[in-house]
Amino acid sequence: MTTSTHPSKVPVSRIVIIEDSPEDQVEIQRLLLRGSDRRYQFVEAETGAAGLRSVLDTSNESPDCVVLDYTLPDMDAMEILAAITGPDGLTVCPVVVLTGTADSRLGPAVLRAGAQDFVDKSWISAGSLTRAVENAVERWAMTRELRARTVALQASEAQMVIGVAVAGLGLTRIDYNTGTVVLDSIAAALFGLAAGVPLPRSAIHATFHSDDKNEIVRRMQQSLDPTGEGSFNMEHRVVHPDGSVHWLSIKKQVIFGQIGGNRRPVSSVLAAVDITDRKVGEEQLLQSEQFNRSLMDSIADCVKVLDMNGRLVHMNVPGLCAMEIDDFGSVCGQPWETLWPAEARGDIARSVTRATGGEVFSFQAYSPTAKGKPKWWEVTVSPARNTDGGQVVRLLAVSRDITERKQVEIQLQQLAADLSEADRRKDEFLATLAHELRNPLAPIRNGLVLMKLASGQPATIEKTRAMMERQLTQMVRLIDDLMDVSRIRLGKLELHKAHLRLPTVLNSAVETSRPLIDQMNHQLTVTLPKEALIVEADMTRLAQVFMNLLNNAAKYSDRGGQIQLHVERQGSDAVVTVRDTGIGIATEQLSRIFEMFTQIDASLEKSQGGLGIGLTLARRLVDLHGGSIHAHSDGLGKGSEFSVRLPLVNEGSAVQAPEVDDAPAAMKALLRILIVDDNRDAADSLSEMLKMMGNDTRTAYDGQQGVDLAGEYQPDVILLDIGMPILNGYEACRLIREQAKGKGVVLIALTAWGQDEDRRRSHEAGFDHHMVKPVDPQALMSMIAVLNVGHAEEPTARSN
Ligand code: ADP
Repeated sequence: MTTSTHPSKVPVSRIVIIEDSPEDQVEIQRLLLRGSDRRYQFVEAETGAAGLRSVLDTSNESPDCVVLDYTLPDMDAMEILAAITGPDGLTVCPVVVLTGTADSRLGPAVLRAGAQDFVDKSWISAGSLTRAVENAVERWAMTRELRARTVALQASEAQMVIGVAVAGLGLTRIDYNTGTVVLDSIAAALFGLAAGVPLPRSAIHATFHSDDKNEIVRRMQQSLDPTGEGSFNMEHRVVHPDGSVHWLSIKKQVIFGQIGGNRRPVSSVLAAVDITDRKVGEEQLLQSEQFNRSLMDSIADCVKVLDMNGRLVHMNVPGLCAMEIDDFGSVCGQPWETLWPAEARGDIARSVTRATGGEVFSFQAYSPTAKGKPKWWEVTVSPARNTDGGQVVRLLAVSRDITERKQVEIQLQQLAADLSEADRRKDEFLATLAHELRNPLAPIRNGLVLMKLASGQPATIEKTRAMMERQLTQMVRLIDDLMDVSRIRLGKLELHKAHLRLPTVLNSAVETSRPLIDQMNHQLTVTLPKEALIVEADMTRLAQVFMNLLNNAAKYSDRGGQIQLHVERQGSDAVVTVRDTGIGIATEQLSRIFEMFTQIDASLEKSQGGLGIGLTLARRLVDLHGGSIHAHSDGLGKGSEFSVRLPLVNEGSAVQAPEVDDAPAAMKALLRILIVDDNRDAADSLSEMLKMMGNDTRTAYDGQQGVDLAGEYQPDVILLDIGMPILNGYEACRLIREQAKGKGVVLIALTAWGQDEDRRRSHEAGFDHHMVKPVDPQALMSMIAVLNVGHAEEPTARSN
């Protein structure tokens, strides 16, 4: 091994010289040293094997160059080159072969075998050898660099190909000059066209789905605009030759070039990928969403989907309608509770918390709506879990309109309250009724005892009798009112209307109420208009109305009060006002007092008896006369005013109302009267009274006895009770009528039943008249007097 001596800064090149001739070894080293000012480290090898060892010695770096004699004792240069050439076809280091023979083919052969250069030994010189070594070093380095790059390029190209293939990306090159397209194998599969061969551009166009074609062409033309960027992105459908439809996502970039000074599209690269699966998935999702929506919309209840914070995500159409929301967008994302009034928000928050925790929570809430009526809702909030049924991902709120049910509940509650109020009033009424009926009985009983004790003292007897009569009248009036109210309620009250002068009716009422007014020491003022006001009315019933009002005025005023009865015409009506200076009525009670059994304070000391039906009766009777009644009071202690408005009869059509003859009936003749009643006391007392009035009387205590006595006694008048043992009143009446003189006798039914039906039955049985018990003896005598029994063949008037 020889080492040259050169300035130390110059890099040392390690040269392996494989040469069997020692002289040539020396000569080669000399030439190299002479040919350059490099520093060399020479490694000498005289055989091929030694040379290979030096070159392939792994303990050292590869030599910078090998100078190899073509012919060696153990092998030639071709074999050595083969041994030091790697799999990439490059020798492990640069090699210069010394050919030294006259065969000119050796040079090119060693180059093909991997040597970088060769020098013919016969022409060797310092210059040629040094140049060959330097060339070899340079060429070898370049080749190695190129090889490395190629390998890297190949690797990255391979990677890209793998990537493109894995991504399913199909590439298509479009050449605008030739109007052709070339598709790679993936693109060909995507478009359903042939791969690798130029096709006319129209081949691609022919694959476009007819529904998408116009839009694709429009956008493609846009991308070819030389002033634009040349990019095209679109998802569209293509149709394969077998008719199958595929969705592709296309990205295309147009490359522009300068042609004839103008920017023109030259070519483009189009990358396509199949997105059919995604699109089908999207379509299925859309369909399932649409299905869910239509399912939700088909539910009549309001359905809301909320996120985990209770914000609105979706709402069905009935929900939007019920909440009067025109556009869901206006509430989407808002907290659900903002749709509710403040009172409901506690329940809303609770329901959201419970449902996010996986529980179902229900509550009822009331919500006023902007346009419609307020509504009641039954709301259930439940958790909606993800597809595997685990995690709660949404909340489902279903609100059901229960307004009607709630209203019925409220009505039922009201009804129950009304019923219990009615029940309470009825109980109160029964207690009052018992009290009011028992009240007059005590003085009447006392009166009887008194009359017995005071025999021979006419003044005391008369005073007692008057007292008893008053009490009895009071009792009879109570019972009459009761009967009347029940008749009106059942629609069985018949009015016997006639044209009457209103003052006549009022006089009658005043006369009836006078005893009470006087008893209370009130002062009554009556103001009547001059004109005769005619009403079409039932005398008794209308008088009853005013009598009730006057009695109330007297009852509900302290002694010595003022009562005014005022009548005036107002248009085509007459208005009668009864005003008092009494205890008055609280404003809140005014609307109640016309209700059945209403007494503002039944315990009031002012109460002078009554059942709380007088005003009910008055209003019903006034209604039946086509009029109206109103109460007014400025409040407690400020007196009361009741006004009755009645339609007046058109004066032209009014006929003169008959004057009522109120004079007590005078006895016109002595009559024979038979009284038949199984209540002996009733029969005997009536008989006694009629006798004292100057008549001749007989009594019988059952129907059969009555019939027998009628034939025997031949009375002018028979008063016949209806409900009797053995023979009842109807049967007795029929048998009496069958007797010889039975036709002419006046038969009067005495009964507790005064309804029209009862009157009809008694009339059918042959009775002339029907009187309701207890019979007022005076009225009975008036009637008999009018009948003029015994003096005329036919009666001239009949009572009802
Ligand atoms: P009654 O008088 O039998 O209690 P009404 O139906 O005639 O029944 O009257 C009902 C209630 O109206 C009376 O209990 C009384 O409280 C009140 N009322 C009627 N008239 C008057 C009046 N003139 N002044 C004060 N309160 C009256």
